[in-house]
This record gives sequence, C-alpha cells and structure tokens, in this order.
Amino acid sequence: TQDQLIRSEKLSIAGQLAAGIAHEIRNPITTIKGFLQLLEVNEKNVKYINILEGEVNKIEQISNEFLILSKPHLENRKDQNIVELIEGVTVLLQPQAVNKNIGIQTTYESQNIIVNCDDMKIKQVLINLIKNAIEAMENGYITIKLKETSHHVIIYITDEGHGIPKERLTELGKPFFTTKEKGTGLGLLVCYKIIEDHHGTIVVESEEGKGTTFTISLPKT
Ligand code: ADP
Ligand code: MG
Repeated sequence: TQDQLIRSEKLSIAGQLAAGIAHEIRNPITTIKGFLQLLEVNEKNVKYINILEGEVNKIEQISNEFLILSKPHLENRKDQNIVELIEGVTVLLQPQAVNKNIGIQTTYESQNIIVNCDDMKIKQVLINLIKNAIEAMENGYITIKLKETSHHVIIYITDEGHGIPKERLTELGKPFFTTKEKGTGLGLLVCYKIIEDHHGTIVVESEEGKGTTFTISLPKT
C-alpha cells in the first residue's frame, strides 16, 4: 500500500543518512587517533588517554558497523571454500583467544566445501560470532563444526561462556542491544543482515552458565 511505500522510503533515507554520517565521521576520527598517538604519556594523564582511546575506538567501530549495515545487497558472490574462510578467521582471532586462555577447535567433514557467497561478508559474520564467544568466556574451548547436506552448509559455533538468559534471547540482534561496557550492540545485527542477504538462517541456543551455540545455515548456491 501507499502508506507502507512511504514508510520504507523514509527508512531508506534514514539509512542513507546514517551511512553518510558514519562515513563522514571517519576522517575526524583518524585525525583524533593520530594526535592521541603523539601525546606524551605520563603518570598523570595515562588514565585519561586510555579512556580517550577506548572511546574513539568505540566510535570507529560503530561507524564501521553502520557502513556494513547500509551497504546494499551482495556485490561479490563467488564460489568459496568455506573451510579456508574459517581457517583464515581463526588464525586472525588466535591472539585474542590465547590472551584469555581459550582454545579454538575446528572439525570439518571434508577439507573442501564450496559455497557461493561474499567471502568478506561471511568472514565478518564469523569474526563477530567468534569474538562474542571469546568475550563471553574466561577460559575453555570454542568449537567450530562444519556439516554439509545436499543443498546447505551448516556452521556450528559453540562456546563454553556465561550463556544468555532465556528472556534475553529475543533481544539479540536488536540495534544497540548490548550487555557489555564497551559493546556497540551492532555485531549480531550485522550478522543477521549478511546471512539474510545470503538467504540463509542463523539460530541461537544457549544455557546460562554452560554456553552458547550459534548455527548458521547457508544455501550452497
Ligand atoms: P556487542 O558484542 O557489541 O555487545 P553484539 O550484537 O555482538 O553486540 O551482541 C549483543 C549481545 O548479545 C552481547 O552484548 C551479549 O549480551 C549477547 N551475546 C552475543 N553472543 C553471545 C555469546 N556467545 N555468549 C553470551 N552472550 C552473547
Ligand atoms: Mg559483538
């Protein structure tokens, strides 16, 4: 109907504005970060400089996530070996995991599972989910499993973290929903959008005090 049309148009203008602002914010942030590095750090100001750096990083992350969200559909779909994508991401996140005494274990049914996808975007999804897993844990294992059916690839990411209370599950993926002091609450929203753009699904199961599993199902073509 006309009313709906107008509303979705308004939404896209709001989306465009948000993306524009996110983009414009990047240059001044780069300048601020640059000058922060030049400041002489001493006993008196180290605390404030750390706070400034933390806050600037947060602004930067919010604007990066906004930019991902505002990008239209998939531009770069290619046949990709999903095993390689996962391996690349785990190597990247290894330092953060090791820092917290966390091991990342991967099991694949085969070394070559091809999915037609935008590799940068799927990497982003994996990074966001594994980072959340690391942030939810103090030590233990993150397990990544890969399964193949005739038309789909299923990725399971399981952590042994603090879990998510039942009543909070429906909040996941809502813009700005976060329980972290330094969170943006945009990471899962980004994941949901990217998986939706791939016509896949993403499901979360969690038990408080035991851990959480995110299950991504992607059509192979
Ligand atoms: P952020 O990480 O910036 O808080 P996200 O959208 O990535 O934003 O996640 C939103 C919230 O969902 C987190 O703040 C956390 O409360 C919850 N969450 C996400 N993943 C997990 C997980 N693996 N274990 C426990 N809680 C999680
Ligand atoms: Mg996150």
